[in-house]
Amino acid sequence: MPEEVLAIDSVGKSFGGRAVLKAASIWARPGRITTLMGRNGSGKTTMLRIAVGELRSETGIVRFLGNAYERPRLPVLARRGLYYLEERARLPTTFPIGAQLGCLRKRFGAPTFNEVIARLELEPHLQQRFDELSGGEGRRAALAAALIRRPTCLLADEPFYGIAPKDQRLIGSALRELAAAGTAIIATGHEVEALLSISDEVVWCVAGTTHSLGGPDAARSHREFVREYLGWHLLSPN
Ligand code: ADP
Repeated sequence: MPEEVLAIDSVGKSFGGRAVLKAASIWARPGRITTLMGRNGSGKTTMLRIAVGELRSETGIVRFLGNAYERPRLPVLARRGLYYLEERARLPTTFPIGAQLGCLRKRFGAPTFNEVIARLELEPHLQQRFDELSGGEGRRAALAAALIRRPTCLLADEPFYGIAPKDQRLIGSALRELAAAGTAIIATGHEVEALLSISDEVVWCVAGTTHSLGGPDAARSHREFVREYLGWHLLSPN
């Protein structure tokens, strides 16, 4: 298995005396998508925000490309190839998205620019501004801005949340394509089928800690995970 690019290792975090994370860990490996699943409020976003230095953990450490950070800082990590795609990521509304993505193409050289636009079906929207797009179109445009940069590691928070199945499919296949080009990806959420369909490895965040369930097939046969997310009817009698 390829070595980890990013590790969020045994982080703990409390808010107002309430422990949200106790010893939670996840890692990202080149060419693989690790999904972090868990209910709303289980601490998934908190883990990512700790990784990029938006929140400070009380315990644990973040390692990125061989360096250990007690206090990671996003500008430093971003210069080394980390991209944090927030759930509510927005693009500026002053220029059409085609102009913005074109600027990124100039800056990053993006040889795959046309593929990114085609894969995310953004051609019809290039003349529109971000605030003229639907939720799913906006999510695709924000992801395109990440893909053009060809990050070493992408943290995608809730990429499937609240969007139509078609948008989920386009985003899922773009994430798989990015992983195929070598990027290490962590994607969070609770849209279990959509996430399992892109996962190489599933990490379950529950009760403040994390459990690595293995690949999607192993997750589908993990009794507690199935009971929580997929329904009793899929459990075998033993
Ligand atoms: P998830 O991403 O799994 O939905 P979050 O990481 O956003 O969960 O939140 C985990 C818990 O921590 C929630 O109960 C949330 O209300 C709380 N929380 C998150 N950020 C803060 C904050 N800045 N101040 C206080 N509580 C917070």
